[in-house]
Amino acid sequence: MSEQTAPNDGIFDLAVIGAGPTGMACAIEAQRAGFSVILIDKGCLCNSLFHYPSNMTFFTTPELLEIGDIPFPSPNQKPSRDEALEYYRKVAEHYRLDVRQYETVEKVAGSDGNFTVHTVDRFSRPITHPARKLVVATGYYDLPNYLDIPGEDLNKVSHYYHDPHPYFGLDVLVIGGKNSAAIAALDLWRHGARVTLVHRGPEMHRHVKYWILPDINNRIKNGEITAFFSSRVVRITEDDVTLATPEGERVLPNQFVFALTGYQPDFSFLESLGVRLDESNDRCPACDPATLESNVPGIYLAGVVIAGERTNEIFIENGRFHGKQIATDLLAKNVSAAAFD
Ligand code: FAD
Repeated sequence: MSEQTAPNDGIFDLAVIGAGPTGMACAIEAQRAGFSVILIDKGCLCNSLFHYPSNMTFFTTPELLEIGDIPFPSPNQKPSRDEALEYYRKVAEHYRLDVRQYETVEKVAGSDGNFTVHTVDRFSRPITHPARKLVVATGYYDLPNYLDIPGEDLNKVSHYYHDPHPYFGLDVLVIGGKNSAAIAALDLWRHGARVTLVHRGPEMHRHVKYWILPDINNRIKNGEITAFFSSRVVRITEDDVTLATPEGERVLPNQFVFALTGYQPDFSFLESLGVRLDESNDRCPACDPATLESNVPGIYLAGVVIAGERTNEIFIENGRFHGKQIATDLLAKNVSAAAFD
């Protein structure tokens, strides 16, 4: 198939890969500094947020989710996913961001000043976008931490939780001991599923938010949610799950499994760009903390990807400032057609 160049592209000063809150903040700050910017996402705008549980509320207050100095009005102390999606849509509209949705970046060719971003659309048609500089803001939500156990590939197993309704009256296993697992277990139980939670630690993780922890612990204490701690799942079949518990193996009837054991950045994508990972430091990518430029000249990193496997270090509330750092460096380097001519 012949490659098509997106219309009216010319060469962009900056291509931002990933249109989450961080990528949007990067695009806004670069645009405000006078650069031409394209934003590319494999899914919709704020694709990760869109795939969060439909009833979720954020852990932080609205002002900490704000980007581009646009206020986030919400009557709630902790805004919902829907409110956040509405907010980020409005911000994209306000700044007229050039967002190419449903284009997956597969590879990047070229070098500083003259990159070519190769994408494919939903129908596997190839597209290219020329850009002088790149920002990688691809987050961590696309790659689950797999358990590598028999049956994990059955279609009753999911690493993402959305909605409780389909599980009414059924035996559901939730694997994990942090916020996502606690929230899913509670939501499922409140909507009529029979919930079992299994966690390898001796109790719910200390990072579970202080307003969620008593709720999940009390449901467990009351026997409303059955929990197995210091336990792990060893096998999943069509009709049951087998747990290894301190009391020995337990086989439980089961119709659905949510393995909510965390996610990780796409390290192979970073490596394919030439970005070096520090294997002795949680695979943190090489990145100048002041400019956020990686070891590859012209390729910047932003948001969660910067912290490697430590996915609980950078959130929207701090990643949203990365755009300013990058825009400052672009200005300092006088990124423009002239600078590379
Ligand atoms: P993302 O939002 O993950 O955006 C990355 C984007 O890159 C995605 O849209 C993805 O589709 C795209 N992408 C990936 N690979 C490619 C590719 N190859 N080509 C094209 N596009 C690609 N944080 C807070 O600050 N406060 C909170 O209250 C909070 N609550 C949370 C609640 C839950 C349930 C979860 C799961 C997370 C929460 N977080 C919260 C964390 C926060 O959502 C993430 O830290 C945030 O989304 C990171 O933003 P980002 O822009 O770096 O990455």
